[in-house]
Amino acid sequence: MAEQDCIFCKIIQHDIPSEMVYEDEWVAAFKDLAPVAPVHILIVPKKHLSTLNDATESDTLLLGKIQLAASKIAERQGVKENGYRLIHNCGKDAGQEVMHVHYHLLGGKTLGWSPD
Ligand code: AMP
Repeated sequence: MAEQDCIFCKIIQHDIPSEMVYEDEWVAAFKDLAPVAPVHILIVPKKHLSTLNDATESDTLLLGKIQLAASKIAERQGVKENGYRLIHNCGKDAGQEVMHVHYHLLGGKTLGWSPD
């Protein structure tokens, strides 16, 4: 399931350090190295998928687990009540840098909206 040379697979396997904030059978979540908000967590499926375009019907449950994990993580991070944003960058035009599906959970301040 893990892909050689994938940095997020290595984090999931605890082969390289991260500030892990949540883990279950399906999903791991850790602090972004370069946070853009007071709370900036990356939520990743443990299964390696390079982009959302690689997901198939067989990943339906996994994709749902990510959303449910986001809500739990938001609660743990203290942003559930005030609100948070979940962002997925898919591919070049969206600025995806790491080719392992990940969702940015942002919160802890009033977020602007500028997809420029
Ligand atoms: P994206 O542009 O959506 O692909 O976002 C990739 C994110 O991964 C960026 O926000 C980076 O700061 C973050 N990142 C890259 N390497 C690491 C790492 N080793 N630990 C935590 N976050 C990372």
